[in-house]
Amino acid sequence: MSEFHPEPLNGLKRTHYCGVLRLEDAGKDVVLMGWVHRRRDLGGLIFVDLRDRSGMTQCVFNQAVNAEAFEKAGLLRNEFVIAIEGKVAPRAVPSTNETLETKDIEINVEKLHILNPCKPLPMNISDDQIPDDGLRMQYRYLDLRKPRMVRNIALRHKVAKSVRDYFDGQGFYEIETPILVASTPEGARDYLVPSRVNPGKFYALPQSPQLYKQMLMVSGLDRYFQIARCFRDEDLRADRQPEFTQIDVEMSFAERDDVLDMIEGLIHHVFDSTVKAELPEKFQRMTYADALEKYGSDKPDLRVDMVIQDITDKVGKTGFGVLDAAIDEGKRIKAFVVKGQGGATRKEQDLFKNFGVAAKLPGLFFIARTQGAVKSSLLKYLGEEKAMEICKATGTEEGDLLVVAAGESRPVSVALGKVRLDIANRLNLLNPKEFRFLWVVDFPMYSWNEEENRLEAEHHPFTSPLPSDVDKLESAPLEVRAAAYDLVLNGCELASGSVRIHQRNMQERILRGIGLSMEEAEEKFGFLMTAFGYGAPPHAGIALGLDRLTAILAGESSIREVIAFPKNTNGVDLMSGAPVVVTDEQMKLVHLKYDL
Ligand code: ASP
Repeated sequence: MSEFHPEPLNGLKRTHYCGVLRLEDAGKDVVLMGWVHRRRDLGGLIFVDLRDRSGMTQCVFNQAVNAEAFEKAGLLRNEFVIAIEGKVAPRAVPSTNETLETKDIEINVEKLHILNPCKPLPMNISDDQIPDDGLRMQYRYLDLRKPRMVRNIALRHKVAKSVRDYFDGQGFYEIETPILVASTPEGARDYLVPSRVNPGKFYALPQSPQLYKQMLMVSGLDRYFQIARCFRDEDLRADRQPEFTQIDVEMSFAERDDVLDMIEGLIHHVFDSTVKAELPEKFQRMTYADALEKYGSDKPDLRVDMVIQDITDKVGKTGFGVLDAAIDEGKRIKAFVVKGQGGATRKEQDLFKNFGVAAKLPGLFFIARTQGAVKSSLLKYLGEEKAMEICKATGTEEGDLLVVAAGESRPVSVALGKVRLDIANRLNLLNPKEFRFLWVVDFPMYSWNEEENRLEAEHHPFTSPLPSDVDKLESAPLEVRAAAYDLVLNGCELASGSVRIHQRNMQERILRGIGLSMEEAEEKFGFLMTAFGYGAPPHAGIALGLDRLTAILAGESSIREVIAFPKNTNGVDLMSGAPVVVTDEQMKLVHLKYDL
């Protein structure tokens, strides 16, 4: 690249972005700056598609009109950074690319400035191919040049802005909480930061701003939100990031429904500002118990019906060993209807059975209504009449398929819940453009941690139990329901929150419940309980995953597509190389020694 010297801007000002010029701009003198997306040579003409984050414009270099600019254009390669001065003109040859917003115009270039050359690229930017993931992450700055990524990043900005506008309008203050904190438990491991000035002591990075937002309520700040970074040292699955962003919210003098109403308003506002989908005024609500019973999941995807029904009493004893034994052992027989699959082939049914195997179901049976008859491997035990009765009772109509399994009540629902989703996916029933919101409420207060042989908080230990269940906190803790709620969208948990404890004695009871001694409780959360003694208002809150919300709005299945600089599944930033080895000197400063 010795043929030319890159030029300085030298006072040259851009007049327009590359994606904004239209037919009515014809005749204007413009200055555009951007990247060479593509160059085509046609004898005495060179066409350059010039791109910036807003889009693309065709620039024409005509040897007959401007030989100097034409000669220089011959040097251009993909991703050179250039500025052009020229005149907007209607396109000589209309573009066939209907999606190109500048398709009706082109720029007749009078002057070309090469601002910076570009080496041959490690990955292609000008097509929509998705190259190797490692390459995308290593050269993320190139990946982010792709129109799809620019769209996603712009959408994320819009979402964040609409969140801020909404909460501002509702009287919330956006308040930053610290990143270097004492541990805030949300059920994951903490990332630790050694303190140089306090030898042997560590900060944790916040798993969420939970305790701080509660303290802000005690402060009387009344309504808080924050677009907050959270850090959780968990084993990373494909779609998890060690750091992620929450829309964190807390409200004083609020009960559950105040939070739910506020968040429904937020979702409407964000959708109206972005994708403009039709959403119901109020979102459906379902108890946790119902969600598990009917959909086998605490985050049901309601884009498909396929409700799981208990048909134990309808089936009764049939002489079929497997089902009879299940009934004798107090297990349940459950089923769901797949519309229009009564005629499913043997091969298709085998595929469904494999979904059952993957969900660890010992047996999956079918009752099909097809060609005016009932067909099933169970027919010889059930008899045609009973089989038909079961179909009628479950809403299995002509042309439908009933999927049946037996087992312990909750596990069989959970397994059927997985099969339900696998079948829905297989049949392409889950429309990504449909948005089905659902509030799941009344979560259990505790769950049992098998490994540690103790109760743990199902949400977090600052969640209030339902007043009606408080009596059972010690006698039957696993039956206690919490004033906790999740917002579910298309089978994804989009938000989680709860009414909080705001009194010391209740907080002590719950911390004791999860196995903390009073000394441990005091050491870890004494400041919170002390604060509760100084006039803490009733309060409640929630946090929504901003990454997930944006990914769904963008139609992306991975949150990595809406995070500018994500980490890979090993928690590595392939672009910067983080995490990195540090020098012995740095280790010494923070009083640490390796023990690898
Ligand atoms: N801090 C909780 C979480 O991060 C959300 C909440 O209860 O507001 O899941």
